[in-house]
Amino acid sequence: MPHDLPKAYDPTAIEDYWAEYWVRENLFAQPSPKQVPASEASVRLECQSAFTILLPPPNVTGQLHMGHMFEQAEIDLVIRWRRMTGRGTLWVPGTDHAGIATQLMVERQLASEGTTRQKLGREAFEDRVWEWKRHYGGAILDQMKRLGASVDWQREYFTMDDHLSVAVREAFVRLYEQGLIYRGAYIINWCPRCQTAISDLEVVHEEQKGHLWEIRYPVRDADGKDSGEWLTIATTRPETMLGDVAVAIHPEDERYLHLHGKKLRLPLVDREIPIILDDWVSRDFGTGAVKVTPAHDPNDFALGERHHLPSINIMDDTGHINAEGGAYAGLDRYVARKKIVANLEEQGLLAGIKDHTNNVAHCDRCKTVAEPRLSTQWFIAVNRKTEDRGASMAGLAIAAVKPDEQGNKAIHFTPEQYEKTYLNWMENIHDWCISRQLWWGHRIPAWHCSTCHKITVAREDPAACSHCGSGKITQETDVLDTWFSSGLLPVSVFGWPRITDDNRADFDAFYPTSLLITGFDILFFWVARMIMFGSWFSADVPMPDGSPRSLADSVPFKEVYIHALVRDANREKMSKTKGNVIDPIEIVKAYGTDAVRFTLASMASPGTDIAFNVARTEGYRAFANKIWNAARFLFMNVDRAAEIGITVDPAVLGSMPTAAPDAPLETRWIVAELNATTAKVNHSLENYRYDDAANLIYQFFWGSFCDWYLEIAKLRLDFSESADRGKTKAALTKLLQVFEASLRLLSPFMPFITEEIWHALYDGNPPAKSIALTTYPQAAPEGIDIAAQRDMNTIQELIVEIRTLRKEQGVEEKAVTPIELRIDAEARAVVAENEEIVERLAKVSEMRFVDQITSGRSLHTKAYFDVAVIYESTIDVPAERDRLTKDIARYEKGLAAAQRQLGNESFLAKAPAHIVDGLKKQDAETRLLLEKAKTALTALPKD
Ligand SMILES: [Zn+2]
Ligand SMILES: [Zn+2]
Repeated sequence: MPHDLPKAYDPTAIEDYWAEYWVRENLFAQPSPKQVPASEASVRLECQSAFTILLPPPNVTGQLHMGHMFEQAEIDLVIRWRRMTGRGTLWVPGTDHAGIATQLMVERQLASEGTTRQKLGREAFEDRVWEWKRHYGGAILDQMKRLGASVDWQREYFTMDDHLSVAVREAFVRLYEQGLIYRGAYIINWCPRCQTAISDLEVVHEEQKGHLWEIRYPVRDADGKDSGEWLTIATTRPETMLGDVAVAIHPEDERYLHLHGKKLRLPLVDREIPIILDDWVSRDFGTGAVKVTPAHDPNDFALGERHHLPSINIMDDTGHINAEGGAYAGLDRYVARKKIVANLEEQGLLAGIKDHTNNVAHCDRCKTVAEPRLSTQWFIAVNRKTEDRGASMAGLAIAAVKPDEQGNKAIHFTPEQYEKTYLNWMENIHDWCISRQLWWGHRIPAWHCSTCHKITVAREDPAACSHCGSGKITQETDVLDTWFSSGLLPVSVFGWPRITDDNRADFDAFYPTSLLITGFDILFFWVARMIMFGSWFSADVPMPDGSPRSLADSVPFKEVYIHALVRDANREKMSKTKGNVIDPIEIVKAYGTDAVRFTLASMASPGTDIAFNVARTEGYRAFANKIWNAARFLFMNVDRAAEIGITVDPAVLGSMPTAAPDAPLETRWIVAELNATTAKVNHSLENYRYDDAANLIYQFFWGSFCDWYLEIAKLRLDFSESADRGKTKAALTKLLQVFEASLRLLSPFMPFITEEIWHALYDGNPPAKSIALTTYPQAAPEGIDIAAQRDMNTIQELIVEIRTLRKEQGVEEKAVTPIELRIDAEARAVVAENEEIVERLAKVSEMRFVDQITSGRSLHTKAYFDVAVIYESTIDVPAERDRLTKDIARYEKGLAAAQRQLGNESFLAKAPAHIVDGLKKQDAETRLLLEKAKTALTALPKD
């Protein structure tokens, strides 16, 4: 039946082949239910019960890193497992247009050609980005294909695709019509390098050593002259004083009561500014007097609103001082800072400079210091309730995660702690700034009228102002935040907003999706926005039967699993600057995808970061090799059986193996073990314990199957003339059945090697196109056989003890020896029945059942048995003496060398701690070995 497997397991060859085959054969496509004939649809896809996952779309500019590989390995494991349990499954792949990242990349390309996007113009620049995307945009998905991700490639999307752009436009217009989108001037984070607004989530705060400058603002007399008194303020950004419009003090601050109602002269600018009173000012901080710069600080902006102060923006988009800065206009913000401080000092207005550690916001993309700045932007009022919904977008997103009156949650988080993190963020959420001053992205569908100065927002590009009919309208230049479009993905990939009666099969079958697996880093960016958008927009889509959609059916996914991070072997975060980044493609080349995937799965326990260690991958590569060799052994026996006319019908494979009550112990036991493992693996996968599942399979396949069952089965595979053919065939059949089921059990974890062996097992004529399309083993109640497990345990314990005794007594590897065994009656019957197994696996020539072990023998004891190996050593004394003498010389040489190193102060000072520890450990071990060898040498008989 099976054909030959190559002698050596070579993952590269088989993985390249199958990865290409899966894509070419389109094996993991989940067609729209409307395209499947009704008869077939009930088998492949029961409406409403499809198991659907959306891939967190990597940036189109991206290269696959270890974090992606980990995330995708987990998703693929789940989706392959669910697919094999018989559910219709769909994994939708795609990429994100990644506004800032992509624009930066193409800008860099332009710079290398000596040009800029401004020189190119907007349209030509956009064309250029599309061209870039066509050439390089598929790289990360190609890498996914090579790693075997079982996605539906026919549904691949890009967030700038036409049909997804329609959704973006509809969402914007609808929210605008609902009064939830507005345009206004607020303080936002501005990146002078990227020249765009960036959200709070897109800045990283870093502690930075800076200064606190204390500046004297002269108090004015009633006649408008300096009174000689001054009020001292403190600031970390002195250049912003150019935009000061007031100084605030606490109304009850006794130091300043006499200054109430007075005015100050703003130094350098010579603007007259008021002293204002506000409870918000802290009397204990600094001097208790605070400069107010509404255009450059969020708190000051709020103060300005309360006191009806003007806002003076003193900086341009590039971080240079603008015309409002008078003498400082045109200077870079930090050049201006220096000059301002110097000028203040000249004028005797600098009271002091103190060292000060600041938490400074940097642009996450380019690491430039972000500038809080007043800017006119577009916002979503996430906390505003609409009349027809009776709720706000954030309100819905909170309700979706909190338990309802019955205690049910529409969305579950695993690990559970993230539910709290999410709710805490959502309950304190501010309006979402959705505009970005970029050229790459979805341009905001709003037109400004230069006649009436009103805004027209429309689904179709308008020709005239909707307010006054003027044709003098121009489209808004801002684009939408990238997360606006990715937040819509769960609805837009299934056809929203074009959901009509005959165009809703996908939406009905796949929405809400079942599970989202993603990282903590995009919990707010993406997960929270999908929950807001999904719940808001899908609520307008009635259920298939026309009834209104409940919140539980509106959410974009029912389960969220937040995976951990992959760190290096020393638990350090991987980073380019540290140079400890592991390239998944390199590691896959070295060990094979299966071994890397298995490493990641075996360490993936919820909430625990992975310390990726190549040593483990090496171990799992050996595991794959072990399975490969087991397959080759089986196939060899199939061939031998065929030579004497024994064949196994492939039709007996593919289900859960069973064992007759009178079957040999090892058969009943391995079937029981397989059932127990299967039950636990399924349970672990249900509960996101990928690590437990992987380790269970590893123990079963390597331990139970290869080390025990296969070894015992060798006894039964008798192909001699005198063999009982029926027994041989039964043993071979069971062996193949258990092996085939084990391959299916392992397949979601190691899809490549299992595919290769499975096809070989059917000699290239398998019952399905892929093992991934067969069924996942499920435990049967009758498969549990506690008696078989107990009896086998007795046999195993006895064999292990005999093996240890043999080692202790120095029994030669090949020698077969008698044993003495005292054993309780019940266990004795089990051993007697299975004598053959013990004799074969523990190299026993004769089993002597005794009431007591002969005195003087060294024995091993368990509660229910004592065992001794009868072995008189017949060692060659001169040869042994020779060997021991050589060993002793070698150990002494090693010790001397170690002493030289450990005694060398400068070596100890320079060597890393783990090297020194290793040397010390080795030194102690060598000492022990030396002692043992010396003792053994003196114990040798004299000749
Ligand atoms: Zn930037
Ligand atoms: Zn108009």
